[in-house]
Amino acid sequence: MNDTNEKWPLGVFASIDEGLGVDLDIAHELGVTTVHLHAPSRVSRTPAAAQQFSERLAAVGLTVTVVFAGFEGESYVDIPTVQRTIGLVPSTTRQERLRELKDIIDFSERLGVDATGLHLGFVPHDSADPQFGALLATTRLACDYAAQRAINIHLETGQEPANVLIDFLQAVDRPNLFVNFDPANMILYGCGEPIAALRAIGPYVRSVHCKDALWSDRPGETWGQEMPLGEGAVDFAAYLSTLDTIGYTGPLTIEREIPQEPGRQKTEIGQAVKLLRRLKSDREAL
Ligand code: MG
Repeated sequence: MNDTNEKWPLGVFASIDEGLGVDLDIAHELGVTTVHLHAPSRVSRTPAAAQQFSERLAAVGLTVTVVFAGFEGESYVDIPTVQRTIGLVPSTTRQERLRELKDIIDFSERLGVDATGLHLGFVPHDSADPQFGALLATTRLACDYAAQRAINIHLETGQEPANVLIDFLQAVDRPNLFVNFDPANMILYGCGEPIAALRAIGPYVRSVHCKDALWSDRPGETWGQEMPLGEGAVDFAAYLSTLDTIGYTGPLTIEREIPQEPGRQKTEIGQAVKLLRRLKSDREAL
């Protein structure tokens, strides 16, 4: 949790030794106070490494609010590959990834962070699908392991329409299972208009990404295009107003997934920080 109790503290998606996020020093330079951390590799998750990392965070005044799990072998190259490779959905890697997820939950606990997030993968849209029950059971195991450590699990949105996600959350039926809402993913995956989805998923939303995108001309079949914040199809004024409606006061975590272009990534996140600051003050003036 953020120390200041500020409403909507700004944040960025960051990483230490691997992952899609910006370096911590850049997060600090951008003037934000919170980060979502892409979980580092196993060697950087030991108690000693976690302690060192906590000290580094304290030195630059950053608070990690969610640790995001990622797994070996995942690829976001196109939608069919996402269906085949992401999260706990692929059955051949499910047990191994559950073990990895438990290890990342332990790392979250070591850092004193009360939430572990992940892309679960493409939840089968039909609950009669034989994989649905197996995924449900694995998600419950992850939630129960996390609950013993007072940690919540946040599922990233976008790979299914809001109603499918809500049905899945209700079927899992665990009190520590919540949602990280990403409006751009709803567009990128062609899974529904993000503001309506946010309203529907609202009671489950415990963290959010601020990311923008344009729709594909074949939604759900091919990728939309991720865009700098404010240049895509997400109406961020409506996004903030809807976050108010659902009572969300936590961090606004900017995500810009172009790690291959660090200079441009930093510039665009800097512009996103400015835009969100302006939209926040517009709302405060209401
Ligand atoms: Mg995201």
